[in-house]
Amino acid sequence: MTTEPEPGALVTSDSVIENSGPNIVECHRCTYSYGSTTAVEDLSFNIKASDLTVILGPNGSGKSTLLKLMLGLLKPSSGSMRLFDTDAHKFKEWEKVAYVPQVVEEMGGGFPATVEELVAQGDYSGVSPLAIFRRTPPDTIDAALATASIEHLRKRRVSELSVGQQQRVLIARALVRKPELLVLDEPVAGVDAGGQEEFYSLLRGLVADGTSVTLVSHDIGVAMREATVVACINRTLVFHGPPHDITGKELHDLYGLPIDILLHDDVHEHR
Ligand code: ADP
Ligand code: MG
Repeated sequence: MTTEPEPGALVTSDSVIENSGPNIVECHRCTYSYGSTTAVEDLSFNIKASDLTVILGPNGSGKSTLLKLMLGLLKPSSGSMRLFDTDAHKFKEWEKVAYVPQVVEEMGGGFPATVEELVAQGDYSGVSPLAIFRRTPPDTIDAALATASIEHLRKRRVSELSVGQQQRVLIARALVRKPELLVLDEPVAGVDAGGQEEFYSLLRGLVADGTSVTLVSHDIGVAMREATVVACINRTLVFHGPPHDITGKELHDLYGLPIDILLHDDVHEHR
């Protein structure tokens, strides 16, 4: 982009590296309705390897529906959703994809699993129930614990850990598959600022190693700071592109609020 940003555009200091890799996800004119409620309408965008995509939108804007379409858990009412060049709802190569659902509050309740036991299960939740029966080699578990920086917690009970630590356990469990695409739904709800910074630095490391990460958030600050690509949805696609190209007008269209209210102070602290 060589054009000057329009007035009100949010300019960041990050240089943009054009990502010319293959498309992992191709969403073309995708619409999904639950009965008479159209949750997402006519969405078109692609996700590439090494993108860190943040899907941004207010409550009820269709973010979780979009993830379920991407993961083939829902089939588009019209249009198409392709995952690794296959219709997502027919996709079978689940070792390529890991999904971290928003379940932190439920983790470990009355269930005495240790960190390494949970990680050894691999990521099967919501995607492939059969994966639980696969045995995970010990060195794969060690590598996943190391990547998520939780080796020192391996013998601890998951239920005794902080929310931020539990989130890392879920990610380590997802990493056991060495996925090419990691999908997370609102991953840092309830995690403090320090824990969030560590969490995003983990994601940045995965992206640097070639993993494509897609994450749902309603936190604009996170999108501006961490994303290489932002997809703003409010049933339809309001914006898709690098975060510094988002204008105040688009954020206003998305949330109906002026951007100085939407952007919290922590955005500026990280700049
Ligand atoms: P978000 O994740 O952005 O909060 P969702 O994708 O969960 O949004 O929901 C989008 C819209 O679809 C909302 O209007 C919601 O009420 C509706 N919706 C979501 N799940 C269902 C469902 N299982 N049955 C009927 N309506 C649903
Ligand atoms: Mg949701």
